[in-house]
Amino acid sequence: MAAPNTNTTCDSAAILLAWGPIDTARLLESVANDAAGANVLFTGTTRGVTAGVLTTQITKRLTYEAHESLACAVLARLRDEAMAQYALTACAIIHRLGEVAVGETSVAIATSAPHRREAFAAAEWLMDRIKREAPIWKCEEGADGDRTWIHPDSGVRSDSGLPLERRPALVDGFGRVHTDLRISVTDRCNLRCTYCMPLDVAFKPREELLSYEEITRVARVAADLGIRSIRITGGEPLVRRDVATLVRQLADIPGIEEVSLTTNGLLLEEQAADLRRAGLHRLNVSLDALHEDVFERIARRQGLDRVLAGLAAAKAVGFRSIRINAVSIRGLTEGEIVPLARFCRREGFHLRFIEFMPLDGESSWSDGHVLSGREVRDILTRHFGPLVPAVRGDAGQPAIDYCYAEQDAADSAADAGRHAGQAAGVGFIDPVTQPFCDRCDRLRLTADGQFRNCLFSTTEWDARQVLRTGGSDDAITRMLQDCVLAKQATHGIGTPAFERPARAMYQIGG
Ligand code: SAM
Repeated sequence: MAAPNTNTTCDSAAILLAWGPIDTARLLESVANDAAGANVLFTGTTRGVTAGVLTTQITKRLTYEAHESLACAVLARLRDEAMAQYALTACAIIHRLGEVAVGETSVAIATSAPHRREAFAAAEWLMDRIKREAPIWKCEEGADGDRTWIHPDSGVRSDSGLPLERRPALVDGFGRVHTDLRISVTDRCNLRCTYCMPLDVAFKPREELLSYEEITRVARVAADLGIRSIRITGGEPLVRRDVATLVRQLADIPGIEEVSLTTNGLLLEEQAADLRRAGLHRLNVSLDALHEDVFERIARRQGLDRVLAGLAAAKAVGFRSIRINAVSIRGLTEGEIVPLARFCRREGFHLRFIEFMPLDGESSWSDGHVLSGREVRDILTRHFGPLVPAVRGDAGQPAIDYCYAEQDAADSAADAGRHAGQAAGVGFIDPVTQPFCDRCDRLRLTADGQFRNCLFSTTEWDARQVLRTGGSDDAITRMLQDCVLAKQATHGIGTPAFERPARAMYQIGG
């Protein structure tokens, strides 16, 4: 397909960021092909005046800004999803960057399909998703010279220059709204996974870890600022005594809608019933391999049978929507992909493959070890047939989920999936090859009481110090907001500026 415009960036001819006027006729031409019975052109145009607004609110100047590689990656993903979902024969997207004058086209989408229904539906679907998900920020400058950045997803205006009491809750400088808090309760673990911690490890003394009361206080302040979901993690959270008590305390906080927990599953059989009674909404269980030898090569301990017993217990006590997280490592886990998928389809677990990130304890990560989500997806497609993009309920979540288009006889015969209360799909969390920083809504609290605004943050904010020196809730609020405001646009893996954080995953909390 010929590139439909020249003053553009992006590596794909079908997806472009344009710094000047968009030639829509050329865009439409670029998708025309013999197999298409219908071609649709959608354009979004910059409005001068919105009906009903006060004259002082009229926008004088409108500009769009983006981190171009991120924006291109997101647009490419949406294009791929649209192509798969609507059987398009071609699709092209152009989004303007920089200043766009009133009446000019700010975004254009051209789709072609064998029939008009698909071409229309795909254009509408794409426009809606681009508006919500593309990391392209709109800046409106009013007649009074005030500039307001508008977040593409939430529509929330970033007012970071305002005094604290007038700021909206946890919104960063790019307009991202933070609603999810990951709380690590310990750095200790009963496994020694190569990708997470060193074999020879020194843990923090107990007194340096926050107590359950301290954690709950921080979570209460965070809930007042708009945190709605909390995930308990570690280290291995189930090695800390009576973690169900913490679950209950967190689930009781007004405003908290979901408390979930990530575990390696080794102690789940003993604790599943207590966790459920305490009000835990959701469980993620990490399981990278179903062959004992591969499990042991990764975990450097035994325990596969205990993980499987833990999963069975979790189902038996009534947990629904159990997720299995599997880290993919080149040269190590390729042979686990199909067995894990088959197991999860049979048992009704939702499987998610995670790309290996540079957070291992022995600093041996290299991009050569990264088995990409795309490669894993290709292996699954070859074995199980097509994967169909699933409807995204939560735009903030990092995984791209799919359903299996075909159920094989063994799967459909199994009733376990139906008991688990969900269709067993498969998802991909691709932080290395498809960063999702543009829609990140997460903050972290480490076991030793440090706020972090990113897994890869090289700065921390010391909440423990505030908690243990008689600091007020306002001081915690201020610290959380400072932490959020300092958040970078992206983690930067693969860029020359990328700096590995000093702490490994087990010390941060995955
Ligand atoms: N021990 C618990 C568990 O195994 O789920 C919770 C903590 S663990 C750090 C949380 C998640 O992070 C796990 O799913 C683990 O596989 C993932 N993880 C750890 N190190 C990682 C890395 N370097 N890259 C990608 N995922 C990693």
